[in-house]
Amino acid sequence: MALHVMEEANRCLGCKKPRCQEGCPIHTNIPEVIRLLKAGKLNDAGKMLFENNPLTTVCALVCNHEKQCEGHCVRGIKESPVHFSVIESYISTTYANQMVKGPAPANGRRAAVIGAGPAGLTIAIILARYGYKVTIFDSRDKIGGVLRYGIPDFRLPDAVLDDFAYRHLELKEIQFRPNTYIGSAITIDDIFRDGYQSIFVGSGLWRPNKLHIRGESLGNVTYAINYLASPSAFRLGERILVIGTGNSAMDCARTAVRQGARYVACVNLTDTITASQYESSYAKLEGVDFIMNKCTVEIRDDGVVLADSRVDENGKIVPIPGTEKVYPCTGVIIAVSQGAESNLVTTTKGIDTGRSGLLTVDADGHTSRPGVFAAGDAASGARTVVEAVANGKRVAEAMHAYMQSLPMPTLTDYPEAPVVETVDAAAQAEQVI
Ligand SMILES: Cc1cc2nc3c(=O)[nH]c(=O)nc-3n(C[C@H](O)[C@H](O)[C@H](O)COP(=O)(O)OP(=O)(O)OC[C@H]3O[C@@H](n4cnc5c(N)ncnc54)[C@H](O)[C@@H]3O)c2cc1C
Repeated sequence: MALHVMEEANRCLGCKKPRCQEGCPIHTNIPEVIRLLKAGKLNDAGKMLFENNPLTTVCALVCNHEKQCEGHCVRGIKESPVHFSVIESYISTTYANQMVKGPAPANGRRAAVIGAGPAGLTIAIILARYGYKVTIFDSRDKIGGVLRYGIPDFRLPDAVLDDFAYRHLELKEIQFRPNTYIGSAITIDDIFRDGYQSIFVGSGLWRPNKLHIRGESLGNVTYAINYLASPSAFRLGERILVIGTGNSAMDCARTAVRQGARYVACVNLTDTITASQYESSYAKLEGVDFIMNKCTVEIRDDGVVLADSRVDENGKIVPIPGTEKVYPCTGVIIAVSQGAESNLVTTTKGIDTGRSGLLTVDADGHTSRPGVFAAGDAASGARTVVEAVANGKRVAEAMHAYMQSLPMPTLTDYPEAPVVETVDAAAQAEQVI
């Protein structure tokens, strides 16, 4: 692998105006990272990557490189671009093993992060670097958000996220409170009550979009985000139709193939596949079929009714009456994106949302409630990992500025907490025994 990495690095022209860096949403200084690697300064290259992007090990694996850094590489105009993803993966994973530094000196302030996806993790790491005591709350049992419960293991192994949790959370003493849905027993008001000076909301998009057709509640039907969270929990049989052709649909189809399905097809409204060329080409290679220009009309126990599609006078894609046919299948996965859940904001006051339920924020992530910030998919709508990290970086700085403008918290901030004697129940129990 190292030889291949160096071959790729040696192909870099070190452009004065690096288009690759412009094409990267987090503006990784690609020529400089490659220069350091070629000069034998692997640790300096690794440090540079992590300081700019705390999720560099993840981005190296899941970014849409063909549209970002590699898609902008000058070499790519006439031949294949420099595959920076391979270089980044090598440097970041090698350097990560050496990241064993403990927490930064405490600054006496507390911040909360709701959601352990890429946006929340970025905020937590940056605030911890400034010395804040950070608690991350997540409704799931492990960190990662879509990285763990959406993107399949064959694209992003859980081990990468487990290592991340150790190096960035455990060693830096960032507390992770799993299985805790904010907006149920604990609300945003409770978090403020307990002395957190600022709260970040990075709750992503977890409410599956519906097709609004008959059959969606049948036992052999599921939604992409539910399926990908634990595919082996479902019994969808050997012949599966995936409704949709976006990147999530490709993840579902390829996962179904790995779960033992004999026939998997993705159904599309138009004649254009929405997933990236890279993702769809892998799906095709793995035997996934594509059924194009069809509207999904109804789901039945033994198949899906599809009709030919056409664009009506309002520009809407509609079924052509009389063209309906049953496409037999044993299971259906609906992969037509996700929307925002509302519990988090409806259980507190003063946080505005837009029509689609996305949190209303300014450029630095301030919501309408002082002290509450947001970024990632919950604020921007469905985007990408690197965009969640890039926005998270900006918002972390805004949270830091906001908290620094507040007085240091003192005991009088919690008047209802009287000074009480400490009882060591365990020591007392030992004495009894
Ligand atoms: C199937 C799929 C595949 C994708 N593949 C790619 C890819 O290959 N490359 C890429 O760049 N992008 C990809 N994306 C998009 C990318 O994953 C998202 O843009 C990114 O994860 C958004 O990060 P986030 O931190 O905003 O939210 P999320 O990753 O969604 O994380 C939000 C977290 O908040 C938690 N949460 C939600 N509500 C609450 C609550 N009330 N209380 C406590 N916790 C809560 C959730 O459990 C979750 O852990 C994919 C998306 C999907 C759905």
